[in-house]
Amino acid sequence: MENRIIPYGRQDINEEDINAVIETLKSDFLTQGPKVKEFEEKFASYVGAKYAVAVNNATAGLHIGVMALGLKKGDRVITTPITFAASANCVRFVGGEVWFADIDRDTYLLSFEKTKELIESKPKGFFKGIIPVDFAGLPVDLEAFRALALQHDLWILEDACHAPGGYFLDSKKQKQFCGNGIYANASVFSFHPVKHIACGEGGMVTTSSEEIYKELLLLRSHGITKENMSENHGGWFYEMQTLGFNYRITDFQAALGISQLSRNEKGVVRRNEIASRYKEAFNGKIKFQILPENFLNAHHLFVIEVNDRKGLYDYLHENKIFAQIHYIPVHQLPYYKNIGYEMVDLTNAEDYYSKCISLPMYPSLSDEEQFFVIEKIFDFYESK
Ligand SMILES: *Cc1c(COP(=O)(O)O)cnc(C)c1O
Repeated sequence: MENRIIPYGRQDINEEDINAVIETLKSDFLTQGPKVKEFEEKFASYVGAKYAVAVNNATAGLHIGVMALGLKKGDRVITTPITFAASANCVRFVGGEVWFADIDRDTYLLSFEKTKELIESKPKGFFKGIIPVDFAGLPVDLEAFRALALQHDLWILEDACHAPGGYFLDSKKQKQFCGNGIYANASVFSFHPVKHIACGEGGMVTTSSEEIYKELLLLRSHGITKENMSENHGGWFYEMQTLGFNYRITDFQAALGISQLSRNEKGVVRRNEIASRYKEAFNGKIKFQILPENFLNAHHLFVIEVNDRKGLYDYLHENKIFAQIHYIPVHQLPYYKNIGYEMVDLTNAEDYYSKCISLPMYPSLSDEEQFFVIEKIFDFYESK
């Protein structure tokens, strides 16, 4: 036990996954082919969206996501400072302005009230969209955000990278899965190995809008389509209708994704068992992310807040428990500091960042390993 390395997250690759990749390598398709199509269909059906577009990573998905939603140079978009930089960077890729609103101190998610305040402090039309993040796997209350967005004519691009399988019950008690295309215009998922579903690199954009779907398809593949081919054209005919990219994923990565997706539900159940055990151990002693009623946290992360965070981080690392910090607030990263937008008060995010630490959270974490992690955390504070 003492020599075992325990990371904060880890992929789970089994024989079935490996065989699925090998089988695809022996087929006629290496780049985008039938496995990509199958992955898209299965993923769309899993989250309950009409359409899904697989891409080579979630950052690419966010990029073509904001483009498909019509983001242009100078347009302003609101997001949370407690996220991975890519949630904000996608706005910068097209020359847009990133505005941060503060987080909720209990859920660590983009605060609905702070977002509303920020929107209402500016004239109508000032902002174009919102990029809320299902941080740690906890779904954003998109029903509330949707109502706000409709009122102010804004789109919503949900960064659901942490939350495949997460859901909430809306006011009609309907189960709303992250990325189902009901309340967000589009949603983005990541298949980086630390996330729920590992493809090596990979991502998915889901939507229920045919218009957005078609735009995503174009942008993923150089802006090229064959859809206007008529009988007067030869088979080589194609049109480049817009300036797109090569953001395609390979068929063998999609084969891995399909195999991984089939275990996601089990993985989310296991992640919630691990979360329950942490909560039982820490209840009343150590603060952790609050789960609002009627929400299911998909638990990409399990975050606690502590004093002497650096001390605990170092102590855990000495014991080969590789806890991690999520995240350095995006507005404090040098690139964003140097841009120097008019900054609103982000004290919740800054206070959260001074205390947060993410504990090991992945389906293959054993009970024994988890007990060891909990024991070491209490050891650290009792020895002080
Ligand atoms: C991982 C992550 C991304 C980027 O995903 P990639 O697939 O690595 O590009 C974007 N947003 C969030 C919140 C993430 O956690």
